[in-house]
Amino acid sequence: MSRKYLIAGNWKMNKTASEASDLVQEINSSVGEQTAVQVCICPAYTALPKSSELVEQSEVFLGAQDMSAEASGAFTGEISAEMLRDLYVTFVILGHSERRQYFNETNQVINRKILRAVQNNLKPIYCIGETLEEREAGKTLDVVRSQVREGLTDYPATAVENLVLAYEPVWAIGTGKTATDEMAQEVHADIRKVLKEMFGDSAGDSVRILYGGSMKPENADGLLAQPDVDGGLIGGASLTSRAFCGIVEAAQKASS
Ligand code: PEP
Repeated sequence: MSRKYLIAGNWKMNKTASEASDLVQEINSSVGEQTAVQVCICPAYTALPKSSELVEQSEVFLGAQDMSAEASGAFTGEISAEMLRDLYVTFVILGHSERRQYFNETNQVINRKILRAVQNNLKPIYCIGETLEEREAGKTLDVVRSQVREGLTDYPATAVENLVLAYEPVWAIGTGKTATDEMAQEVHADIRKVLKEMFGDSAGDSVRILYGGSMKPENADGLLAQPDVDGGLIGGASLTSRAFCGIVEAAQKASS
C-alpha cells in the first residue's frame, strides 16, 4: 500500500497575517511546485484568508488548527466548518493535546468535531498521544487505542480516505524530546491495527498516520523511514521555511 507522505505545519498562535504571508511565500517558492509529498500549512484563523489566496496557484494545501462541533449560530468566538470551506481550507487539526489540556476537550467533544468536519468534506488530522505519566505507567497503547476508538465513533467508512491521524506523544511536543524511531513505529503499527479492526484491512492500510513531537530536519529521516510513519505534524520547526522545507525534502527523499 503506497501512502503519499503528508508534512503539515501547525503554526499555533504565532504569526500575524502579514508575517504569515511572508512565510507562505517562502514555502511556496521552495516546495510549492512539487507533488511527491503533500504539504499543508495551518496558520491562525486571522491569517487564513490571505494564506488561502497565496496558496491558490501552488500545490500547498491549507489547514486550520481547530473548528467548532456546531454547524452555526450563537456560539461566540467559534469558527464553523462551513466558514473554513469558504476559505478553501482542506485539512483541520482536531484534538491537539493543547486543546485537550487547556480547553478540556475530551474524546467525545473531539468526536463531534471530527464528524462535523467530514460532513463538510474537510479532512480531519486527528491528534492522539499519551502523557509522560501514562507512558511511564505502561499505559501508552491503552490510551491511544481509546482515543482512536472514541474519537472515531460513528466515523463513516465511506470517508476513511479523508482521515489522517497524528500520533503526538504529549511529552515530545515542544520539548525537544522526540520518540525514538522504534517507539514511534510501535505505536503507529498499533494504531493501524485498531483502524483495520474498525474499518477493514484495506481502509486501515490507506489511512496516513503522521508523527508529531519535536520533529526537525535532523531527526526526520529516521522517523519517516518507519513503515507506518506517513509524514509529520510539525510545530516549532514549521515556523521557518528552512526547517519546514528541510523536513519536506526528507520526505521527498524517503518517498523516492
Ligand atoms: C505540535 O504541536 O503539533 C508539535 C508537534 O509541536 P513541536 O513540533 O513543536 O513539538
